[in-house]
Amino acid sequence: TEANPLLDPIAWLREFAALIDENADRLTELDAAIGDADHGSNMRRGTTAVTAAFAEAPPATAPDALKQAGMVLIRSVGGASGPLYGTFFLRAAAVTDEIGLDATSFAKAFRAGLDGVVARGKAEPGDKTMFDALAPAADALDESLEGGATLSTALEIALAAAESGRDATVPLQARKGRASYLGERSVGHQDPGATSATLLIRAARRALG
Ligand code: ADP
Ligand code: MG
Ligand code: MG
Repeated sequence: TEANPLLDPIAWLREFAALIDENADRLTELDAAIGDADHGSNMRRGTTAVTAAFAEAPPATAPDALKQAGMVLIRSVGGASGPLYGTFFLRAAAVTDEIGLDATSFAKAFRAGLDGVVARGKAEPGDKTMFDALAPAADALDESLEGGATLSTALEIALAAAESGRDATVPLQARKGRASYLGERSVGHQDPGATSATLLIRAARRALG
């Protein structure tokens, strides 16, 4: 229904792939400053492989789509971001049933995905990673849905929270991943993974229509 629409994970991944494609140069530029200048190309390789896999064999259910996305990302992306995003989607799949992603189940899947990223990468708040965009988005989803918001409104609020978290990575010194090797020289640059993670929320908002 319009009051409780489902978010189609295939549409979500398709919108994510489109946004990654549009922003790949920017993501790589950010990674050039504090990493090894491959985040845009890593993510583009991964999300292109996901949409190709979906085109070849369309997943029949929401958990199947999320699981396939996770497996393809892990397999196709060389770099820290592949296993992290891959684990996000595998964990999201594991808590999603075949009815699909309504507001409550999306928030639950997103939280499980975030927990997977933490289990895999051990990021803590303020480490200057994708966590710093994903975690405020997960909190905003939970809070706004508890307050009675629709999924559409909750995603708007979560997007704003992710953007703030992303922007707040600029003054931080990286404590995880390649950027941490730079020490103080990582200060003053926006984290590439927090930037792509914000696109993940924007993609969900777009996929909802
Ligand atoms: P690599 O660093 O292997 O080249 P990418 O450039 O694709 O991989 O991804 C870098 C991004 O991955 C960083 O900007 C950061 O957001 C994220 N990242 C790295 N290590 C971790 C970690 N341990 N936990 C969460 N995110 C991480
Ligand atoms: Mg890199
Ligand atoms: Mg790399």
